[in-house]
Amino acid sequence: HHNEDKIDYVFKVVVIGDSAVGKTQVLSRFAKNEFCFDSKSTIGVEFQTRTVSMQSKVVKAQIWDTAGQERYRAVTSAYYRGALGAMLVYDITKRQTFDHVARWVEELRAHADSSIVIMLIGNKADLVDSRAVPTEDAVEFAERQGLFFSETSALSGHNVESAFFKLLQEIFDMV
Ligand code: GDP
Ligand code: MG
Repeated sequence: HHNEDKIDYVFKVVVIGDSAVGKTQVLSRFAKNEFCFDSKSTIGVEFQTRTVSMQSKVVKAQIWDTAGQERYRAVTSAYYRGALGAMLVYDITKRQTFDHVARWVEELRAHADSSIVIMLIGNKADLVDSRAVPTEDAVEFAERQGLFFSETSALSGHNVESAFFKLLQEIFDMV
């Protein structure tokens, strides 16, 4: 439990990607260690926070979640403003959500700061029998675009912490 007075850095991170890939659940897993089976998509933008210690500094991650806008391609530049990191999420069982990743990268390049750290996340890795996106395809894409990459499961929690910590560490090393 951290004292609010002792926060050294606040890092804004945005979560983006197609609807229903698990953005909100990945974020809730990281921020609250929760997975909600009957969550409803809400309208409007919200953020969740988690405060972590990094190299004897206290870092508050303020992680913004789109809610609904992804369906209408209505994420505005205000959402990206001041963001130091982005979690770009697709669903490993839905090929289309991976095919759209390039568009989301374009969105980031157009609206976010050029130094933004991007982590590509293949979520729902627990659904092994429904996999539609080979890991190698994503590794290759990430390497070509200069993104970090991880496959996660918000359901089991697999790799969620390590992906966020990697992103926060990369941001920390820049500031
Ligand atoms: P969002 O629209 O991208 O915010 O997606 P949600 O977080 O609302 O999740 C969409 C649906 O996928 C919900 O039914 C979740 O329960 C489910 N879901 C999210 N993450 C996972 C996961 O890691 N594994 C599985 N099996 N289902 C997930
Ligand atoms: Mg959501």
